[in-house]
Formats: sequence, C-alpha cells, structure tokens
Amino acid sequence: MKCTECGTPMRVRKENYRYDESGLTHVTLVGLEIARCPRCDNYEISIPHIEELHRLIAKILIDKSTRFTGEEVRFLRKSLGWSGSDFAKHMGVAEETVSRWENDAAPIGPQADRLLRFLVAQGKLTTSYPTERLKEINLSKATATRLKLATKNEHWTVQAA
Ligand SMILES: [Zn+2]
Repeated sequence: MKCTECGTPMRVRKENYRYDESGLTHVTLVGLEIARCPRCDNYEISIPHIEELHRLIAKILIDKSTRFTGEEVRFLRKSLGWSGSDFAKHMGVAEETVSRWENDAAPIGPQADRLLRFLVAQGKLTTSYPTERLKEINLSKATATRLKLATKNEHWTVQAA
C-alpha cells in the first residue's frame, strides 16, 4: 500500500490506537493494524467488525453504574441511529436539552438516564437489560468509562483497563 499523500510505501504495524473517532475520549483499540507513511505523517487505519465493536461499547456503557457523560450520551444516541432531533422526540425532551446533555452543560436526569439505557438495550443489543441495575445508578457523578478493546478470534473483547 502506498501513501495517498506522497506515494511512499506504507509500513503496517500493530499499535494501540486511541479511538477518538468514536467520540469517546478513553477508548483504546489494542493491537490494531495501522499503516504509517515513513516520510510524512499520513496514516491509515482499518477497524474490523466495526458494528460489533460499537455494540460492545454501547453494552458496556449501559452497564455502568454512574451517570453518562455528555460524550457517552452522544455515542449512544448515534448508536441508535438518531439525529439530535429524533433523539429529543424519543426521549420526550426539547432538542436544546439533548444538546446540553451532550455538551456536559446539564446532567442527564434520572428518568432520561433510565430510558436511554432501555432504548439502547432494546434497540440494537440482543442481551436483555438487567432492571436490577437501575436501582444502583449513582446520578450524583458522571465518570468517563475507560476501555481497552482488542480483537480475539475475530471478535471484539474487553481487556482489563
Ligand atoms: Zn506519505
């Protein structure tokens, strides 16, 4: 494979990759194949089984025991395939409210937090959602979820963070 910028042959290596494109700050893909140009700073990544990866991240997020951060709300909303306006309609709130949640300008409320967990669990995930967990959600704080994910036997798995 040649660099699309300068035509130099790219070098492929396995690296740990901070998956910023997910919109989540703390997700690392472990041992991802990355082609880097030795001459300029151009690089190419290809993420295998990306839908499965996103489902896994969504499942981990709805299992967390603290309130969602803004970027997590945005990730989950996108994983449902909804625009901000679609999401506002489904959640029964104003669009500005969605925007405030996603920008950490206002915390997502307890009912909205629960509804979002259900919508994600029902919508795209096959596992049933454990309602017992809803009693344990700590809404007084939002902690970002740190994830290290790697492919093993063609499936995305979580590595100990
Ligand atoms: Zn190059």
